[in-house]
Amino acid sequence: MSLDNRPVYTGGCQCGAVRFRVEGALGDASVCHCRMCQKASGNFYLPLVSVRGAKLDWTRGAPKRFRSSNAAWRGFCADCGTPLTFEAPDGIALAIAAFDHAEEIAPTIQWGTEAKLPYVDHIHELPGEDTMADVSSSSYLADLVTYQHPDHDTDQWPPEERS
Ligand SMILES: [Zn+2]
Ligand SMILES: [Zn+2]
Repeated sequence: MSLDNRPVYTGGCQCGAVRFRVEGALGDASVCHCRMCQKASGNFYLPLVSVRGAKLDWTRGAPKRFRSSNAAWRGFCADCGTPLTFEAPDGIALAIAAFDHAEEIAPTIQWGTEAKLPYVDHIHELPGEDTMADVSSSSYLADLVTYQHPDHDTDQWPPEERS
């Protein structure tokens, strides 16, 4: 929360070159199954939250943008590729998973269901393992050093010892 009690959200791309700050209430949170959102995210569907009623600032860097139709632009980090925005005439939406606390932003509706991939509704039925369950066959996991930007703002990135 900020001083005047408006909620504040932060987030950014995987490499940390692009960071954002949203002040104010978030709008609708959704997932979109349309074919354009699949391609733009390289994923089965794209979770987005509208920030049209809030104040959005790019606090480090800015997204590169691809014009995906005559109506919309898609913003992404030019350095690491993380999808970040969907920008249409009625406002901007941000990729939910790019937020530092994506767990706070639960989608409430699905769009583009005509293109929903046939297995998406069954993923939760698949067998599940945590990351380290595979450590015996993937020994690099035991010594893994992440270069991913942490889920909070940083004064300097990458850290001095790595820059
Ligand atoms: Zn990046
Ligand atoms: Zn879509």
